[in-house]
Amino acid sequence: MRRQRRTKIVATLGPASSDQTTIERLFVAGTDVFRINMSHTTHEAMRAYVAAIRAIEQRHGRPIGILVDLQGPKLRLDTFKQGGTDLAMGSSFVLDSDPSPGDATRVHLPHPEILSALEPGHRLLIDDGKVLLVVTEATRQRAVTRVEVAGRVSDRKGVSLPDTIVALAALTPKDRSDLEAALDTGVDWIGLSFIQRPEDVSEVKKMTRGRAALLAKIEKPQAVKSLVEILEQSDALMVARGDLGVEMPLERVPGLQKQIIRGARRTGKPVVVATQMLESMITAPVPTRAEVSDVATAIYEGADAIMLSAESASGQYPVEAVETMNRIAEEVERDRGYLTEIEAQHARPEATGADAIAAAARQITETLDLAAILCLTSSGSTALRVARERPKPPIVALSPKLATGRRLALVWGVHCVVTEDAPNIDHMVARACRIAFREGFAKTGQRVIIVAGVPLGTPGATNMVRIAFVGADDAGAD
Ligand code: PGA
Ligand code: MN
Repeated sequence: MRRQRRTKIVATLGPASSDQTTIERLFVAGTDVFRINMSHTTHEAMRAYVAAIRAIEQRHGRPIGILVDLQGPKLRLDTFKQGGTDLAMGSSFVLDSDPSPGDATRVHLPHPEILSALEPGHRLLIDDGKVLLVVTEATRQRAVTRVEVAGRVSDRKGVSLPDTIVALAALTPKDRSDLEAALDTGVDWIGLSFIQRPEDVSEVKKMTRGRAALLAKIEKPQAVKSLVEILEQSDALMVARGDLGVEMPLERVPGLQKQIIRGARRTGKPVVVATQMLESMITAPVPTRAEVSDVATAIYEGADAIMLSAESASGQYPVEAVETMNRIAEEVERDRGYLTEIEAQHARPEATGADAIAAAARQITETLDLAAILCLTSSGSTALRVARERPKPPIVALSPKLATGRRLALVWGVHCVVTEDAPNIDHMVARACRIAFREGFAKTGQRVIIVAGVPLGTPGATNMVRIAFVGADDAGAD
């Protein structure tokens, strides 16, 4: 099965998409990577999702990616005597370390590490920014605040701290247990929520030890500040516009989206644009014009993937939402302006053999009008560097490792086929041509380009390009 677009689709699973039949319909409609959100999923349900996806993968013979998204250190207020209280503009309100239920004057903030990090002038956003408090006095046990945006605060509402670097571990005890369960189940990507520093990512990397790739969600201003360093530690990024739009002014989100996509593209790491992409499709079978335009913008910017959250997890039209994204991506990518726009943000090759080869491959395909770029890749790095070039012809990655194929499901333009390495490069070139023919990427008489590191299976040693002819005998079995 071949997709007619380069941009990938990530769909979140949930109550609206928990049975195998619906998951399979989501896949057929265009989902390349399934996301499991551990904020709302038990270990048992996670394992059931993974089993369902792996069965579908086997039936369709195409690697499917699985992203397990950890909840991260989401901060919350404790409870109130009356369940909540209305805070008036200009009044003062105290957050403290006293666990007794709150009232109109104070509430328990069950995170001692926040209380000790707060300083006068820091902002606290309660309940997705509905209420804004500004700290006027702070000690280690309590912070006095002034209400700047009035509203109701109630039991266990979320707290965002755009100005404070909180000395929180990157993973809560729940995250650690979710991470272990996810790694035991063998998922491909781990999403890290609310990270602030590059060390938050490198710490988790030590625990995963390559068993899954790490996707850093950029949803805090602190993470935006350290974007370059975070990128260095991560395997992918997400523009997590939901929380980003709470912690920063909404009107800054579009500019940040461009900045994050550009940064990721420069380093050749995949980037996902997420949240409210087709929000109205939670309850309606067609999206708004503005939503279609938003999805199209992410595609024109060259994002690797676009994501559905509640639309596919708990909405009434999960399959229609994927079909809609698929149609928008196909149409945008047919537009003559698409590759021109992508090209405008083209990143120059880095001074490595792999980048020199990837850039040369792209140039050769343009000179000779070749049908496809076939990458022989073990770890996936060759395919990533070729995808970074955003070439015009499709990229077919051939890897002996299923895990590589599953990770590459997130990457712009890469169609992955799992196949054993042949005993020598001539055999491998011949096999690649047969696969390109069989998968519909090249017709008899067309030429393709093959990119590889020889000897095969040496990671990071991309050193070969070869032009090959797809002949009549390539129509046979491999
Ligand atoms: P979430 O992350 O859906 O886990 O909150 C995405 C976002 O914040 O946009
Ligand atoms: Mn979020």
